[in-house]
Amino acid sequence: MAQKTVKTMKELVALCKRRGFIFQSSEIYGGVASTYDYGPLGVELKRNLKEHWWRAMVQLRPDIEGIDSAIIMHPKVWVASGHVDEFVDPLVECKQCHHRFKGEDVENLDKCPVCGTKGSFTEPRLFHLMFQTYMGPIQSEENIAYLRPETAQGIYVNFENVRTPARQKIPFGIAQIGKAFRNEITPGNFTFRTREFEQMEMQYFVHPSEAEKWYEYWREQRINWYYSLAFHKDKLHFHEHEKLAHYASAAVDIEYDFPFGRSELEGIHNRGDFDLSRHQEYSGRTFEYFDQQRNERYIPYIIETSGGVDRCILALLFDSYETEPERDDPDRIRTVLKLHPKIAPVKVGIFPLVNREGMPEIAREIEKQLRPHFMVFYDDGGSIGRRYRRQDEAGTPFCVTVDGQTLEDETVTIRERDTMVQVRVKISEIPEMVQRYTDEWERDKGL
Ligand code: ATP
Repeated sequence: MAQKTVKTMKELVALCKRRGFIFQSSEIYGGVASTYDYGPLGVELKRNLKEHWWRAMVQLRPDIEGIDSAIIMHPKVWVASGHVDEFVDPLVECKQCHHRFKGEDVENLDKCPVCGTKGSFTEPRLFHLMFQTYMGPIQSEENIAYLRPETAQGIYVNFENVRTPARQKIPFGIAQIGKAFRNEITPGNFTFRTREFEQMEMQYFVHPSEAEKWYEYWREQRINWYYSLAFHKDKLHFHEHEKLAHYASAAVDIEYDFPFGRSELEGIHNRGDFDLSRHQEYSGRTFEYFDQQRNERYIPYIIETSGGVDRCILALLFDSYETEPERDDPDRIRTVLKLHPKIAPVKVGIFPLVNREGMPEIAREIEKQLRPHFMVFYDDGGSIGRRYRRQDEAGTPFCVTVDGQTLEDETVTIRERDTMVQVRVKISEIPEMVQRYTDEWERDKGL
């Protein structure tokens, strides 16, 4: 009997390329180091994930507003934020194998973890992590601009621009999803650490005396959000920070057990009044808030939740990736992404059993009926088994097959991805079945 195989980065990268989730950027020119493009399935998965976050963090919450701020901001923003002075990483290189190490790793280095040479490192030097460019035609000092290294600053500087028209009172939050850029010294592990990436950030403004309470609240909310994606709970962990960043008074990471080790998906920080005070100081505008209920004026404290879209996608792909024996042919191994049906890129695969006898016409008609409601994929290539396997690898939760019996009684088979169980239903009942199976799937997972 065939054995389950272990999931490795190599296998996942191959699946991502094969199925069109994620592949090397500018591949025809040899690729650009650590930059990736999301293909048809990848972009759907990413959109669904962001939608899931936006819904939970903005649309279902009366106390959170969304924004979409510009990537290039006034250069003073980055002086005020501390990035110009602080956003540097110490970097050392092994003189033997030229492998580079950065940040916290540098302090603990004795022997090179790559080639094993002892004590053969260059002196640490500081490396600026912000991408720099020029605004306008003249490349001079005063025209320097930066690509944002985080989306958070676009939220802080717009505190009043959002609060006033939205008529929000403290406590309330502002959320944003967008690209950020860091000239990382040691990118790697596929999309885990890249130089261009996407963040999902929410900054929650609170009274200073309530900061701790809200910090605890958001810790719980955020881990529950990951649970709602049906992650294996035992693979998610909190990691409390002992050494804090210049702005934070408490910090915890949500980490995932990747095959390359336990690593950060999201940070939750109590940033105190650092951000608004600094912007008040550098801009000359006041960020004091008058709290009518308390009859008190203060600079709000900020609780930040800052997650990476790409890291979450990578974790989801690993978490849902399984290889297991086929139901009808246990000697055959199938690879399947057991993604939550709500975020799966394609919801329903539609197949005519054979390409004749009126089956393609009916299958096309079903496709036409379902397309306005679900992402569907029509496939008439190769044996039915191969078509199922392709959709399993894409994470498609349901496959509908039109066969000989369909011509007689307008029924089709609908196959559920995880159990591989097939049932016969009326064509008109497909949407209802998809909904029912999705609800059952959630119930089985305790969601
Ligand atoms: P790390 O320690 O891994 O560099 P960080 O602590 O610097 O991460 P934050 O500044 O807290 O990260 O950014 C918030 C989130 O943005 C991270 O939890 C991560 O999901 C994402 N992120 C940060 N840097 C990158 C990157 N280079 N590539 C992909 N995602 C990133």
